[in-house]
Amino acid sequence: MAVNSKLKTKNSELYVWEAVKALFSGFATVFVHLFRRPITEQYPEYKRPLPVRARGRIILTIDPDGGERCVSCYLCSAVCPVNCISMEGAEKPDGRRYAAWFRINFARCILCGLCEEACPTSAIQLTTDYEFCKTDILSFVYEKKDLLVDHQGKDKDYNFYRYAGVTTNYGDKGEHIGEHKPVDVKSNMP
Ligand code: SF4
Ligand code: SF4
Repeated sequence: MAVNSKLKTKNSELYVWEAVKALFSGFATVFVHLFRRPITEQYPEYKRPLPVRARGRIILTIDPDGGERCVSCYLCSAVCPVNCISMEGAEKPDGRRYAAWFRINFARCILCGLCEEACPTSAIQLTTDYEFCKTDILSFVYEKKDLLVDHQGKDKDYNFYRYAGVTTNYGDKGEHIGEHKPVDVKSNMP
């Protein structure tokens, strides 16, 4: 009995000591913050500069030579988890593909950035613009004319047509070791 009572007393002393330590550590934190400069930022008077990787409003960019980057491959549309991208592909007389129309419904977009990751031509890019709230839900549907910009966005030099399908010193398409000849996709039509 005497041993039990001694143990209880020791435990109670420990609890009290822990409580006092926690109390003073709390006071110390408050005391330190009393002398710190407040970090409240007055938005919208002050707008914090965002890193380029921030994911805001989406744009469609152009090549350094001025051509539309989008080749209407539908990859962004396929990868979009909320199905908010739609388009129709078309082809120019020289065979270059483009989007006849391109639509993003920002009322559904969750700004996840997957479309940007999937795009092989760096056409679709997310920007740092986050101020596009509206009260009319239909105005969140952006057409190609609202999305297309006259610059390259984050990817200044990339030009898909200078890298994809070009002839190299090692041979043309289908001439490299173990490579199959290109398939005429139109011959595969049902
Ligand atoms: S950011 Fe995400 S949700 Fe928005 S269009 Fe791209 S893939 Fe879809
Ligand atoms: S934006 Fe990119 S991924 Fe989407 S259709 Fe155009 S080229 Fe393909």
